[in-house]
Amino acid sequence: MRGHNMIEKDKLIKRFISYVTVDTESDPESNTTPSSAKQWDLAKALVEELKEIGLEDVTIDENAYIMATLPSNVDHEVPVIGFVSHFDTTPDFTGKDVKPQIVENYDGKDIILNKEQNIVLSPDYFEDLLLYKGQTIITTDGTTLLGADDKAGIAEIISAMEYLIKHPEVKHGKIRVGFTPDEEIGRGAHKFDVKKFGAEWAYTMDGSQVGELEYENFNAAGAVVTIKGKIVHPGYAKGKMVNSMYIATDYINSLPRLETPEHTSDREGFFHLYSVNGEVDSTKLQYIIRDHDKEHFDARKEMVQKLADELNQQFEKEVITVEINDQYFNMREKIEPVMHIVDIAEEAMKKAGITPLIKPIRGGTDGSQLSFMGLPCPNIFAGGHNFHGRFEYVPVESMQKAIEVIVNIAQLVAKEKQH
Ligand SMILES: [Zn+2]
Repeated sequence: MRGHNMIEKDKLIKRFISYVTVDTESDPESNTTPSSAKQWDLAKALVEELKEIGLEDVTIDENAYIMATLPSNVDHEVPVIGFVSHFDTTPDFTGKDVKPQIVENYDGKDIILNKEQNIVLSPDYFEDLLLYKGQTIITTDGTTLLGADDKAGIAEIISAMEYLIKHPEVKHGKIRVGFTPDEEIGRGAHKFDVKKFGAEWAYTMDGSQVGELEYENFNAAGAVVTIKGKIVHPGYAKGKMVNSMYIATDYINSLPRLETPEHTSDREGFFHLYSVNGEVDSTKLQYIIRDHDKEHFDARKEMVQKLADELNQQFEKEVITVEINDQYFNMREKIEPVMHIVDIAEEAMKKAGITPLIKPIRGGTDGSQLSFMGLPCPNIFAGGHNFHGRFEYVPVESMQKAIEVIVNIAQLVAKEKQH
C-alpha cells in the first residue's frame, strides 16, 4: 500500500473545493442546531454524496447530524469503528465566497494570495510550508478562511469509504461515518447520538499537520466576571462614585500575567481574557480557562473565584461576581483504558510511511466530548495548517495520506480480531 494514492489528485481537489465553496460558518449567538441555517446546504449535499458512493443507512436528523454505514466485508466479528468530521467553519473569520487557489509543485517561496491587497503566505513566517516543497497546496485568496478545518476531514473520510467500496479485496469490518454541525462553537458533540452511531470507538479527522495523532486535550471552562460600580455625576462624585472599570483593571492584573495563550505552550495551561465590556456602572470580563492537568485546572478555577472574593472584601457589599462553566475535559482518562485504539492509528500511519506526531492538543475537539459520552475518540490529522484565518492552507498530498491512514485503520481493525 505504501505510496499508493487511493484517489486521483484532481478528483480529490474537486471534491474538497465543492465543500469549501459552500459557506457553513457557525453562529455562537444562535440557539438552534445547526446554529446557522446555511449549514444545511452542505449537509444535504453530503447526504446525497454518501448515498451516491454507495454507503448504507445514510441518515440526517433534525439537527443536521449525518450518519452512514459501510458494511463489513468479512465473516468474522470485527469491532465497529467510526470516523467523524465537522462541516461548519469557525465564526472567527469569514467563510463566505471562498476562492481556493491551487499551487502546483510548490517551490518553497512566498505564495501571493492577493496581489491587490498585498497578502502573502510566506515560509519566512509560516515555516511549515517548507515541509511541502514540490507538493500541491490549496490556499485562499487572502480574503476568507479556507475551511480545510474540517472539510478536508470530510473529503478524506468520503474518499476512503469510496475506495473501500470500489476495492472489496481490502478487508474491513463495519464502519460508521459521522458528520456534525457546530463543532467550532463547541457544540459539535452535543446532539451526537452515540447510541445510534453504534461504534466501539471512533476517530475525528480534525487535526492539522500530516502525522498528528492526539488523545490528550485541555480541560476547559469559561468564566464571566461581572463588576458592579456606581455611577454619580462626575462633579459630585467624591466618595460616592465607584468606577467598575478600575476594579476590573485590578482584577485583570491580579491574574498571572504570563499564564496567557501568548506565553504558554505544550502542557502549560492559561487564563485567556478575550473580552472586556465596560462602563462606570458595570464591567464584564470574559475568560476562558485551560489546563491539561485536572488538578491545575481546578486550582485555576479556584483562583478566579478567590481573587473576586478578596477584592470584594475591600467593599461594603459584593461588587464582583464570578460565573464559571465547565466546557469540556481532557479525553486522556477515557482513552488510556483503551490504548490499543491509539496504537492502531499509529501503526496505520507507519504503514503509510508517516511518522506519527503524538502531542497534547491545545484546544478541544468533538472527540473529547464524544469520549466522555461513551465513544472514545482520538484525533487524527486532516492535513491543513493555519486554521481559522486567511492563511489557512492544505497540501493535497497530506489529504491523500489521511485517506490512506483511514483505509489502513479499517484493515488493521479487521485483522486484529481474526485470531
Ligand atoms: Zn476542526
